[in-house]
Amino acid sequence: MRGAVLHAPGVVRVEDRADPAIIEPTDAVIRLSATCVCGSDLWSYRGIQEVDGPSPMGHEYVGVVEEVGDEVTTVRPGQFVIGSFFASDNTCEICRAGYQTSCVQRQGIGALGAQAQRLRVPLADGTLVATPDVPPDDLVPSLLAASDVFGTGWFGAVAAEVGPGKTVAVVGDGAVGLLAVLAAKQLGADRIVAMSRHEPRQELALEYGATDIVTERGDEGVAKIKELTGGLGGHSVIEAVGTQESMMQAIRSTRPGGHVGYVGVSHDVALPGDELFFSHVHLHGGPAPVRRFLPELVDLIWNRTVDPGKVFDLTLPLDDAAEGYRAMDERRAIKTLLQP
Ligand SMILES: [Zn+2]
Repeated sequence: MRGAVLHAPGVVRVEDRADPAIIEPTDAVIRLSATCVCGSDLWSYRGIQEVDGPSPMGHEYVGVVEEVGDEVTTVRPGQFVIGSFFASDNTCEICRAGYQTSCVQRQGIGALGAQAQRLRVPLADGTLVATPDVPPDDLVPSLLAASDVFGTGWFGAVAAEVGPGKTVAVVGDGAVGLLAVLAAKQLGADRIVAMSRHEPRQELALEYGATDIVTERGDEGVAKIKELTGGLGGHSVIEAVGTQESMMQAIRSTRPGGHVGYVGVSHDVALPGDELFFSHVHLHGGPAPVRRFLPELVDLIWNRTVDPGKVFDLTLPLDDAAEGYRAMDERRAIKTLLQP
């Protein structure tokens, strides 16, 4: 089969890889209908995160089950399924508490390489959610978005305790930030401030439910949020970048007693203890337990209540994955969908 492999910073090649097969009786093998490039893939693409030899890439996937192991009972060949970037048993104490990305048996999908034609999914019963039927083509991008970015934005909003009566600010205008806006709208936020300086992204944020756009960042961005909230800061602030600047922008934009939901993969962030102590903000986040939200998100997409697939503004054949990475790296594309 064909699959994307990162050889060195900036060097992605689509090449022949071994076809996946059932290894454990709890595995499934799926034929991918669509896959995509994640903002978090750019950390290694840019050389910020070290690459240890040629690495298969990709952790977002939807597709049709081809084969299941002997112990798999909840999905069967022919079903259209979605899973998240960590496989989880969905039965351990941590999973049952809703933190499937910290499952005691968790296995990363990234190492298996979902930017490919086929994928082995471990712990299939706990990991995969089947749609009611094979979806029409136009629903596939939105279902793919639920595999990571929509679920991650949703968790950011839940972690930030978004709800009716709340003023929400979103730091970051990548796919996760934009879908956090959509999640905040669905969760009933009163006012949603999107922080973005890119016009096409501002437009999508407004379409997804943002009521205000703030183009300033850093201290000026914080001042603007304070200005919009009577000097207090937002009730709920979602951090969807993962840098020192964005994290401090989120914390400082939150009112005392408010909540920060941080879902940008953290890189070299160090929080000043004294400022944190006196800020009185709640911090919660981490790798989103997308599996917790998948059934609900699939429903919203299936009923056409939401259209998170609009974050894909570039669609390419899998063989052109290298261009998909370049376009996102240069911010020419929000998110690239790859067709295997
Ligand atoms: Zn578990």
